[in-house]
Amino acid sequence: MAEFPAEAGPQQIVCPHCKKTFTAELIAGQTERHRGFKCPHCKLFVPAARARNS
Ligand SMILES: [Zn+2]
Repeated sequence: MAEFPAEAGPQQIVCPHCKKTFTAELIAGQTERHRGFKCPHCKLFVPAARARNS
């Protein structure tokens, strides 16, 4: 079970900030902590490590 498929395309994310669900592509950051998604609801950054769709 890979933590984050590198070529996953759009993924369904549950924002840890506002708890809403959205679909976004992974933003490739220069470092692991800059990798993640931007929530369209609250505009906050969601680190990939915290974006769980289960
Ligand atoms: Zn949010």
